[in-house]
Amino acid sequence: MSKRDFYEVLGVTRRATADELKAAYRKKAKELHPDRNPGDEKADQRFKELNEAYDVLKDDQRRALYDQHGHEAFEGPQGGRGGQGFGFDFSTSFTDVFDDLFGEFMGGRRGGGGGNRASRGADLRYNMEISLEDAFAGKTATIRVPGSVTCEPCSGTGAEAGSKPQACPTCSGVGKVRAQQGFFTIERTCPTCQGLGRVVKNPCKSCNGAGRVQRERTLNVNIPQGVEDGTRIRLAGEGEAGLRGGPKGDLYIFLSISPHSLFKRDGGDLYCRVPVSFVSAALGGQVEVPTLGGGRARITIPEGTQSGKQFRLRAKGMPGLRGQGAMGDLFVEVAVETPVNLTKKQQDLLREFDKAGTSQNSPETTSFFAKVKEIFGSSKE
Ligand SMILES: [Zn+2]
Ligand SMILES: [Zn+2]
Repeated sequence: MSKRDFYEVLGVTRRATADELKAAYRKKAKELHPDRNPGDEKADQRFKELNEAYDVLKDDQRRALYDQHGHEAFEGPQGGRGGQGFGFDFSTSFTDVFDDLFGEFMGGRRGGGGGNRASRGADLRYNMEISLEDAFAGKTATIRVPGSVTCEPCSGTGAEAGSKPQACPTCSGVGKVRAQQGFFTIERTCPTCQGLGRVVKNPCKSCNGAGRVQRERTLNVNIPQGVEDGTRIRLAGEGEAGLRGGPKGDLYIFLSISPHSLFKRDGGDLYCRVPVSFVSAALGGQVEVPTLGGGRARITIPEGTQSGKQFRLRAKGMPGLRGQGAMGDLFVEVAVETPVNLTKKQQDLLREFDKAGTSQNSPETTSFFAKVKEIFGSSKE
């Protein structure tokens, strides 16, 4: 099932303002809320879909990513592979949207007003695609991470130097206000303090009182030698800044290794198929094969080599993780190439060659047809 467009889910145009989005979300959330549709799986699915869509679109940064990359922007390494090789997932849970609107649904108070609590910053996910060469040699990758960091001039308080934030007069510092809408009692984020529970009289000029500033950061990520496809690298404290002095989230780098045109990898070993002319295979010869380390290795093909024959080059495979442990091997499989586009002269030569042949030249063919004869009797019925 393909994923529906988030704007379509909310029933708004791509140019909808934040307020229009919010209004559309509220309307649909009320219709689809599970408490109103008990046992209705379809409604439940659509409710989840709605939350997911709103969760992305309500955040300017995520909305911009979605507009640019579509669903791919938030997909995992499986879904995103083969795409652009990157994407961000700010992994906010849906619960904050939910609690914001329905925290006090039907009068049942859920949890305490969390408006004042410090909260941990969101984890960030970065999908990185590297080449097999990079995995072989290791590298330092430079990535740019959009996100917010604690505002330095005000140390995250949002108040201009010399002043302190005060308890919000609208919500008395709770961060939430209640409103009656039809038969719903809705608890929503306080519009005065945006849920902070505090107001700042002299807001910090650097962050306009938010305590956080948007900043694209540049990070150097060390990709160790010998990494495997699917490796996850955690950079503690490199995620989003926490709210109200909470700890920072982490940044996770999800590595995928792009397919190589010559080599296949299996753990520490590499596999490579090398075409060999049927003349070289018959008479014997030498072939050069590339290695990931950059050099070339020479293989001697003995006389009468068959297609599929494997040659093992010790320690020419992948290095162990961080260069520790033994190197893997490189397995070279010979693929004898049947000649094509023959000239008249070549065809004649081959017919002549065939005429001169004996059963000794092709023992496998001879033995195969001998077995066929043994099982089915002579070709005459
Ligand atoms: Zn307030
Ligand atoms: Zn500030």
